[in-house]
Amino acid sequence: MTTTADAAPDAHSRSEACVLRYAEVVVDARTGKPGDTFTYAVPPQMDVQPGHLVLVPFGSRALLGVVTGLLEEPNVDYTRPIASLVEEQPVLTPELIELGRWIARYYRASLFDALAPMLPPGMRGGSRAYVQAAPDPRPGVEERLSAGARRLLAYLRANPRPHPVTALTASLGPWVRNAVRALVEAGAASEWLSEPRHKPATPRATWLVPEVYASTLRQFADEHPRAPRRAALLRRLACSPAGLSAADARKQYGRAAVAWIIGEALASLQTAPPPTYATVTHTPLLPTPEQQRALAALKPAIDDPSSTPRVWLLHGATGSGKTEVYLQAIAHCLAKGRRAIALVPEVALTPQMTQRFEERFPGRVGLLHSRLTPARQRDEWWRIFRGERSVVIGPRSALFSPVKDLGLIVLDEEHEWTYKQSDSQPLYHARDVAEQLARLTGAVVVLGSATPDVVTSWRAAEGTIGKISMPGRIERSGAPTAFADVDVVDMRTELREGNRSIFSRLLQERLQDTLAAGRQAVLFLNRRGAASIVACRSCGSVLRCARCATPLTYHSALGGGRLRCHHCGRARTEPRRCPRCRSVHIRYLGLGTQRVAEEVGSIAPDARVLRWDSDTASATGAHERLLRAFADGKADVLVGTQMVAKGLDVPSVDLVGVVLADIGLHMPDFRAPERTFQLLTQVAGRAGRGPQPGYAVVQTYLPDHYAVQAAAGQDYEAFYAAEMERRRAHANPPFSRLVRLLYDGHSDRRIAFDEARQLAGRLRRTVREWDMRRVDVVGPAPTYPPRIRNAWRWQLLIRASEPRILLDRVSIPPSWRVDVDPVNIV
Ligand code: ADP
Ligand code: ZN
Ligand code: ZN
Repeated sequence: MTTTADAAPDAHSRSEACVLRYAEVVVDARTGKPGDTFTYAVPPQMDVQPGHLVLVPFGSRALLGVVTGLLEEPNVDYTRPIASLVEEQPVLTPELIELGRWIARYYRASLFDALAPMLPPGMRGGSRAYVQAAPDPRPGVEERLSAGARRLLAYLRANPRPHPVTALTASLGPWVRNAVRALVEAGAASEWLSEPRHKPATPRATWLVPEVYASTLRQFADEHPRAPRRAALLRRLACSPAGLSAADARKQYGRAAVAWIIGEALASLQTAPPPTYATVTHTPLLPTPEQQRALAALKPAIDDPSSTPRVWLLHGATGSGKTEVYLQAIAHCLAKGRRAIALVPEVALTPQMTQRFEERFPGRVGLLHSRLTPARQRDEWWRIFRGERSVVIGPRSALFSPVKDLGLIVLDEEHEWTYKQSDSQPLYHARDVAEQLARLTGAVVVLGSATPDVVTSWRAAEGTIGKISMPGRIERSGAPTAFADVDVVDMRTELREGNRSIFSRLLQERLQDTLAAGRQAVLFLNRRGAASIVACRSCGSVLRCARCATPLTYHSALGGGRLRCHHCGRARTEPRRCPRCRSVHIRYLGLGTQRVAEEVGSIAPDARVLRWDSDTASATGAHERLLRAFADGKADVLVGTQMVAKGLDVPSVDLVGVVLADIGLHMPDFRAPERTFQLLTQVAGRAGRGPQPGYAVVQTYLPDHYAVQAAAGQDYEAFYAAEMERRRAHANPPFSRLVRLLYDGHSDRRIAFDEARQLAGRLRRTVREWDMRRVDVVGPAPTYPPRIRNAWRWQLLIRASEPRILLDRVSIPPSWRVDVDPVNIV
């Protein structure tokens, strides 16, 4: 980004260079210090800029750190110098550092945690500490060492090469750790961090890729002045984080040097990154009038960073041509010399999307995701860094890739909850982070969905963000096609009329017709929380908490057939009869794909059935294989869970059956109706993707529920209106903000509960003492499931217009995880 600060470049930066001798460094350690920032001196010969990745001494350790700022004067009395630069150039732009600060503040994460996803892959977590005897120690150091340290020093001198500290600890004993520290302090050995080694993906090795930091390579180069070719190769590699052609390296520096560097584990041979080619290049399609309108809104916004709004909701039905809009908006952005990021909820489920991008922008698409080998990830990252990729596609973390001159960020299926990180810090939501990144860079954000998050729709209705609608559906030929017909079947009637099968008569009939016509069917099962809800098959009612009306869930783990409210924590014993109609047909709603597949066998014995759930598709690539097998006609019926709703786009699917729509509805989460609506709408959208009309059959015990009704009618507006009314009545988002406090867990149930009760008490006292209005503390309540790996977990929920005012006044113990804007509250 160009700013006025660049006006007087040279004189300015030179004068700066001689005064800014201190750097603020955020280190990779739990230091307990707010911000985790420390001041270090910049050694005279070192050119340090914000965004540089450095190694710094910290206590007796060497830590990885990021320079976040430069200072004229240190703000502490004593500073140590930065040890070395890890990479020659700064790896983070000022915008990304600023984004990191925002993430740390908003999500209450440490600054290093917030910056870590922006660093080159492999820099953290996998890094290992190495130790080696110093080549020229000060005379007499040995005398001051302890016996253990002397013993280690003797070993290191007898074996003069880098040793992983973990390996030494394993072979010599745990005393090694202290000994290493003593040797480093005495200057008798050096310690540094390095990346883990990884095996080449295939034996066809053609690239020489560094295995250690550039700083380590340079250090080795300095230590080998008598071997000029080795040193030259080391220096060259230090400047080529993505690697060199092995053939070139051998030609230029000799076979011996290359063999030596591999032998020292400083580099390894890797397969060349697969050439990026496109089988068919796709030319842009002539936009339909709806697409023209969308592009007419987006292009000027991309051209003029000062125009508003900067964030746009693109609400378009599945198959309405949203992807084509993304592609053409990106093409426009590239034509203006800027770059783009496109996020997808799950890369493995969207191979078709990735392929379309690759075909439209051959050789310019960077794909970043965790299933790539480490070497490939690193290679892609550096290609993006160098500007060789102008479009980056990937999951939420792709937001943090080093894209310069960013002009456009697309979030496809913006309502998906995979956009929220919920397993490790920082617990960010890609939608909100994208908006901040756009603010910092002048980019435009496009949020695409057929079923937008109601909060996104609400923001569009309020005028906070822009809105573009594309209600029509395009067929492959370019002509509009109809949506599937959706029939809702009341399963209570089926039981009353003597049908005890899990399939209604209508679904059986449709299934047989579809198979007889040689077409395909998909049976969908919403399995989340399946076994836990207690419902009456006669009247459809679900057992609810007497205090707060949340559906109760059953847990064998809680013992003795107890039902528990996951919202307020109240418990009761399980009844034998339905409290409403006295029927004995009261039971847990729960079915697996296996059971459904068996039932298909009993009504259509010849059908070839394929199961697709996390049990059958856990291996890498299994999703794609199953999907392809079904698309190729290798099965007639696909039985699957949530995943079916996403990736599947098969024109020969005529029928979609939703075996039981209710399960998701009863999850004790206020977003349950929204999730159910989104899933059912998506599932119904899987039928009739080709020219044939499609059918969907939705089986339910709650045919009158507004989410089921609206999904059956494919009526987003009706759902939105009913849902907003409920959200307002219960003061749920967007009418409040939520923060979920999750206790990590304790093996003793009693202790875990006491801990949760204490924090709840402290929070409530603070609310009273400060007389905070509209701040609600809910719970403690068990999580779902209540126990993970033998640790009992509890949660608290803060619901307020500004939860921050409470959180700023109470110190949350480290055993609690703070989740700001949680997408999951069970
Ligand atoms: P969405 O992303 O909304 O699901 P897509 O962009 O995938 O929709 O479009 C659905 C289908 O319509 C695709 O097969 C696509 O090739 C086709 N399509 C999209 N736009 C056009 C157009 N302007 N002319 C002809 N076909 C189009
Ligand atoms: Zn009943
Ligand atoms: Zn309750």
